[in-house]
Amino acid sequence: MKILVINCGSSSLKYQLIEMNTEEVMCQGLVERIGLADSVLTHKNPIGKKYVVNGKFTNHKEAINIVLETLLDKKYGVIQDINEIYAVGHRVVHGGEKYSNSVLIDDEVLCHLEECIKLAPIHNPPNITGIKACKELMPNTPMIAVFDTAFHQTMPQEAYIYPIEYSLYEKYGIRKYGFHGTSHKYVSQKLGEVLNRDIKDMKIISCHLGNGASICAIKDGKSIDTSMGFTPLAGIAMGTRCGNIDPSISTFLIEECGYTPEEASDSLNKKSGVLGISGVSSDFRDLEKSALEGNRRAKLALDIFYYRIRGQIAAYAAHMGGVDAIIFTAGIGENSSITRKSCLEGMDFLGIKIDDKWNDVRGEIVEISTEDSQVKVFVIPTNEELMIANETLEVLNNI
Ligand code: AMP
Repeated sequence: MKILVINCGSSSLKYQLIEMNTEEVMCQGLVERIGLADSVLTHKNPIGKKYVVNGKFTNHKEAINIVLETLLDKKYGVIQDINEIYAVGHRVVHGGEKYSNSVLIDDEVLCHLEECIKLAPIHNPPNITGIKACKELMPNTPMIAVFDTAFHQTMPQEAYIYPIEYSLYEKYGIRKYGFHGTSHKYVSQKLGEVLNRDIKDMKIISCHLGNGASICAIKDGKSIDTSMGFTPLAGIAMGTRCGNIDPSISTFLIEECGYTPEEASDSLNKKSGVLGISGVSSDFRDLEKSALEGNRRAKLALDIFYYRIRGQIAAYAAHMGGVDAIIFTAGIGENSSITRKSCLEGMDFLGIKIDDKWNDVRGEIVEISTEDSQVKVFVIPTNEELMIANETLEVLNNI
């Protein structure tokens, strides 16, 4: 049974075809520069052979069409008939308050996704375009929406209501939604499998540290709080995003520093975080190298990143009345032993102890805590595509 996973960005489209019986990725690829004259599709089949198609894919429908043609290609493709695709799982960033689970897409769901555009004006429109294009090209194939926000819909009110005028929540839906839910759910479930324990009896803190980064407190298998907020700009410091700052800074930038609202938003989203502090890079490989070479601001950027993560972990341990396991995942979490060690430095008061030997790991599932550590610490590579495919199957099995 094959499931196609689609993740549409504003000018890009990522896909994977997954054979669900074995969880094998049959092929994967990326279409970039959709809408421009020099669009390109890069397709990889299971033996890692690359196939590149250059062209002009004017919109997402043309991009999906070329993806389907490639899947069917005699030489580079992996299927003979489009009907071999059992269902399509779409990553959708924002499901608002309505969706706490993945859902079969029909006209009513599409209508609601359109309503959510105001909450995610950059992300939801390309997600919707991708869904509509797939529906047109594969009218008989079920389409499932898997939301980044859904996992966090279990947060209690005291975690998601902001201390601002309550009417702003009622009228405009201004509240914490949280993101990266698919990843936090995947790694916490994987932890349960690895430990052979039911995560319904556990207190877990999941640290998704990539270009975008968020931390999630998971109690009894449910998200009870997460660091991103109304938008993915909130929380810990990130590659280029500021994370939590005094909200008056936004108005100060506009009123005193001469920024337009767009420039202020651009600054906080794209020129802040570790890039903004260091002036070097948003990439942790560059920052770690620079800091080692003595660059003071690169070191400061890293120290701020670790400091905020440490504080967030401690806060979530307090909210849950303890912590049984901490998970590191995504680009930085999976690859940077320095980050993992530095974030947990001095946290033995919570019973957290890292083993340097085990921590010297990259991109595989490993327990990195010492034998006598009261809190188990794990590196667990995330796999959002597989999670989307699993959710897609689950929705269809429950219809
Ligand atoms: P993601 O958004 O999950 O793809 O993560 C991308 C980020 O992971 C990059 O910007 C890097 O900062 C980080 N990263 C990837 N590999 C390494 C590595 N070997 N050491 C440190 N950071 C890494």
